[in-house]
Amino acid sequence: MSSDSGISAKVLVTGGAGYIGSHTAQQLLDAGNEVLILDNLSNGDRAMAPGGARFIEGDLADRTLLAEILADGIDAVLHFAGSIVVPESVADPLAYYRNNTINTHGLLQACVENGVDRFIFSSTAAVYGDTTLVPVPENAPTLPISPYGSSKLMSEWMLRDTAAAHSLRYVALRYFNVAGADLQGRRGQASRNATHLIKLAVETLTGQRDRLAIFGGDYPTSDGTGVRDYIHVVDLANAHVRALDYLRGGGDSQVLNCGYGRGSSVKQVIGALERVSNRKIPIEMAPRRAGDVAELVAEASRIRGLLGWQPEHDDLELIVKTALDWERKRVGLG
Ligand code: UDP
Repeated sequence: MSSDSGISAKVLVTGGAGYIGSHTAQQLLDAGNEVLILDNLSNGDRAMAPGGARFIEGDLADRTLLAEILADGIDAVLHFAGSIVVPESVADPLAYYRNNTINTHGLLQACVENGVDRFIFSSTAAVYGDTTLVPVPENAPTLPISPYGSSKLMSEWMLRDTAAAHSLRYVALRYFNVAGADLQGRRGQASRNATHLIKLAVETLTGQRDRLAIFGGDYPTSDGTGVRDYIHVVDLANAHVRALDYLRGGGDSQVLNCGYGRGSSVKQVIGALERVSNRKIPIEMAPRRAGDVAELVAEASRIRGLLGWQPEHDDLELIVKTALDWERKRVGLG
């Protein structure tokens, strides 16, 4: 997939050595952009940053560096860098407000000071908190229940207010459950200490864990396990390329859900992985995990209408197969 705008300009991708940032950086390059990646490698992997991009190892908190970068003809910023582990945010909230909220503040300030007025932001469905709306629309109440969700929502507010006061326009994409990996096996999820279902399941299948815990079998869902809207990372990356085209075409600021609008249960995810791997995953039933909602599915029509985004990998088996292929390769089994 690539953009068909044909626009070539220099874009800054923060967190471009990370999971979603690196997939997006690749597609931005494929669409003809010049890509500059800023990443401190706290969670990213230098090898995942696409070869055609310029790479700067540096920290967003370094405001001198930011000013230098943004003064140098940047057409747009795509801001992925941040901390993303919900339980860690509960244990160390100030680290999350620093890495997510304060660093976004610094980046926005540098954008305003240097006249960079297109901004694409990685937000999260965690801003909806303990919602019971299924599917959940963008105008649902935002009541995050973790510092992670709050740190991202505060960044959305800064974007809203900055856009009202200055020439900056933005698209904030609220990601649902991102999974899968590059179809050519160039990159995938590498995060240490992952807490996500599909990552833990492929770690179990590759012998790095003894078993997978299912957190809660008594939810009011079709099979009792939690339901989420899993979206393939390549489709998610493409949504950013579309969002950039949209802003370049003069589009107004938007906050958009980014999911397929279709839910799968924990048991359905496990079933899909067992089918593609032809192996049984050892599981154990465990109590519900604190903070988990029964069902979180995007009301997903706005993004398609506004950005012309057309997902191409809306297929749970493909999502889990690419995740497994990547994990096998990562641990030297592939
Ligand atoms: N989950 C699970 N076992 C795990 C990790 C997650 O049963 O080891 C469940 C979790 O309760 C939720 C779903 O899988 O219903 C997705 O969780 P994940 O952590 O991947 O994403 P979240 O929706 O929490 O952001």
